[in-house]
Amino acid sequence: MRIILLGPPGSGKGTQAQRLVQRYGIVQLSTGEMLRAAVAAGTPVGLRAKDIMAGGGLVPDEVVVGVIADRIELPDAKKGFILDGFPRTVPQAEALDNLLKHKHLKLDAVIELRVNESALLQRVETRVAEMRSRGEEVRVDDTPEVLTKRLAAYRSLTEPLIHYYSERRKLLTVDGMMTIEQVTREIARILAAIEAADAKAAEKRASARPAAKGTVRKPARKAAKSSPVGRASAKKASKAARKATKRPSKGAKKTVKKGGPKAARKSAKRVTKRRRKA
Ligand code: ADP
Repeated sequence: MRIILLGPPGSGKGTQAQRLVQRYGIVQLSTGEMLRAAVAAGTPVGLRAKDIMAGGGLVPDEVVVGVIADRIELPDAKKGFILDGFPRTVPQAEALDNLLKHKHLKLDAVIELRVNESALLQRVETRVAEMRSRGEEVRVDDTPEVLTKRLAAYRSLTEPLIHYYSERRKLLTVDGMMTIEQVTREIARILAAIEAADAKAAEKRASARPAAKGTVRKPARKAAKSSPVGRASAKKASKAARKATKRPSKGAKKTVKKGGPKAARKSAKRVTKRRRKA
C-alpha cells in the first residue's frame, strides 16, 4: 500500500499514520519528523530547514523532494509507505508522480482528513499540553502565532492538492471531525474497498489471459512434446501470446482499476455525507 495523508496541521495525520503502520506493517514517512531530526542532528538539510520551520513556512521543494526520494529507496519502504506531510505543494506532488512512475510504483490512495479550522488551534493546544505532561520537548512551531502561519501556508500551497488528486481520481475524503477511532475505521474501510477492487482487477486479468493465449498456444504445446527444438519454439510462441494479449489485458486493468477506487470514493463520500447530516 502506498498512501498519502492530506490535511492541515492538527487534522490527525500523524495519529492515523501510526495506526496504519500497525495495521499494514508499512512505514510512515513524515517529512516533518525527518526535517526535525535533520535540524536536531545539524545536517546541511537541517541547517537549511531550521529557521523556515520555526517560522511556520515551507522548506524549499527540492530539499524535501530529495529527502523523500532517498527515503523511499530504503528496503523498509519496499512493502509500501504512508506519506504524512508530503507532498505539500503541487510541484512536490508532480515530483512524487515522477519518482513513482520511474520505479513503476502505484499510488493507492490520497486520504484527505477534512476538519473545521476552528477546531485546529484547540487540538494543537491539547497536543502541546499532552507533550508537556509526558515530559517531551514541545515543537517550536506549536504556538498560536506560528500555527496561524502554518495554516495560511496549508491553505495557499497545500490545499490545491485536493483538486490535483481529485482530478487524478485518487482522492478520498474522510470527516476528520469524528473521533480518532471512527476516523481509523473509516480509513480502514476505504482501504479495504481499494484492496478488494485491486484483487478483483487482478482476478479479471488472470482469467482473461488463458482464453486469449489458447489459440496460439495449442499448436505450440503439441510441438513442445515432440522435440527439444519444439520446446524452444513453444516458449517463443507463448511469449508471443503473452505479447499479443498484453494490450487487451492492460485495457481491462484500466477500466477495473478506475471503477475500483472510484467505487470506494463514492461510498466514502456517502458515509461522510451521512455523518455530516447526523
Ligand atoms: P504539521 O503538523 O504542521 O503538519 P509537520 O510536522 O508535518 O507539521 O511539519 C512541520 C514543518 O516542517 C512544516 O511547517 C514545514 O516547515 C516543514 N515541512 C514538513 N513537510 C514539508 C514539506 N513536504 N514541504 C515543505 N516543508 C515541509
